[in-house]
Amino acid sequence: MGGRVAETEVVVVGGGPAGLATALELRQRGIDVVVVEASTPPVDKACGEGIMPDGVARLLSMGVELDERQYGRIRGIRYLDGERIAEAAFPSHCALGVRRTILHEALSERAAEAGAVLAWGERALGLSARGVVTARGEISARWIVGADGLSSAVRHWSGLEGSSRGHPRFGVRRHFLIEPWSDRVEVYWGDHCEAYVTPLGSDEVGVALLWSGAKANFPELLQRHPALVSRLEGAEPSSPARGKGPLDRRVASVAKGRVALVGDAAGYRDAITGEGLSLAFHQAAALAEAIAGEDLVAYERQVARLDTLPNALIAALLYVERRPAVRRRLIDTLAANPALFARLLAIHVREQPVTSLGVRGVLKLAVGLLPSATA
Ligand SMILES: Cc1cc2nc3c(=O)[nH]c(=O)nc-3n(C[C@H](O)[C@H](O)[C@H](O)COP(=O)(O)OP(=O)(O)OC[C@H]3O[C@@H](n4cnc5c(N)ncnc54)[C@H](O)[C@@H]3O)c2cc1C
Repeated sequence: MGGRVAETEVVVVGGGPAGLATALELRQRGIDVVVVEASTPPVDKACGEGIMPDGVARLLSMGVELDERQYGRIRGIRYLDGERIAEAAFPSHCALGVRRTILHEALSERAAEAGAVLAWGERALGLSARGVVTARGEISARWIVGADGLSSAVRHWSGLEGSSRGHPRFGVRRHFLIEPWSDRVEVYWGDHCEAYVTPLGSDEVGVALLWSGAKANFPELLQRHPALVSRLEGAEPSSPARGKGPLDRRVASVAKGRVALVGDAAGYRDAITGEGLSLAFHQAAALAEAIAGEDLVAYERQVARLDTLPNALIAALLYVERRPAVRRRLIDTLAANPALFARLLAIHVREQPVTSLGVRGVLKLAVGLLPSATA
């Protein structure tokens, strides 16, 4: 171990989107921060790479600018299941499809400009009485933030692990050089495996596959979606397959003493709603505010509030994912009621409150899901 001892107000372990957004939010409040990141840029990760409209708004408020030649505009979502198709547009603002390497570069440039100290290639090895120990020495800090992803070591070191439940699910993604054929994220539903296609610019799409069950590789999983295979015919892959999982990681709490967790480290359920990035950005703002107010209990409350809707949506979608007949009735219901689908999407991206669904919306959904409705 090296002998360097650095001192700062906050040390963030993990320089992915959650860690960099936290650093930016802290700097916006005049708080000194050091980010230690084990890898070196360009930092990539298995991800569907769709940033929901509310996440795009958070990026703008952090002053993060993306070059429009480097992303795809996403105007809505399309569900496909065999012959069934249902689609809806986002209420007012687009989502963006952005390669993770590009997002990482934009976030790190902005964080460095804002005065965050970014230490690439520096892995945190443990916590100490003063702060965080890395291979280069010790960084002493008043606050420690674990932004170190799904398998967070900070979560483990600080005794914040919870117990994960449910059927283990995994994700893998790959890119293909092909002009996007849609300005929607397409979700191809299948039994125990969904495919997500994200437009990433004028000549590339990302394909993310989420599945449960036995280990599988990208080509095997893709074959489960013949309609997508024929869409991709002749398209050259532009990246190797990159996977992640199991996805479900729970926490006992998101803060303890002077340690707080953010992003996937703060607990993750599933990628089925494609909003891990947006949620991480919302949490980052809440965490910086709590640190500025020296009140991590306020952060716990905010995370509970922020997580409620995504967790409910994930639970509902995982329920239908495992039940093909219910899933098909859901898609038929959404196809027959596009305004209802659009309202659900507006709620998902936090533009409308859950109550905007109304009694009629709830009844339409409930009746549509009953077996007799389509029998
Ligand atoms: C298949 C798949 C598809 C997805 N699709 C979407 C989508 O379309 N839209 C969306 O919003 N979200 C999506 N997500 C979720 C999204 O990818 C995550 O929520 C997001 O990456 C969380 O960011 P993070 O910064 O918390 O974690 P990460 O991106 O995992 O970053 C953690 C960082 O911590 C570093 N680190 C780890 N340990 C240490 C250590 N000891 N010392 C120093 N550094 C360390 C790692 O190197 C890494 O860079 C998807 C996830 C999967 C798996």
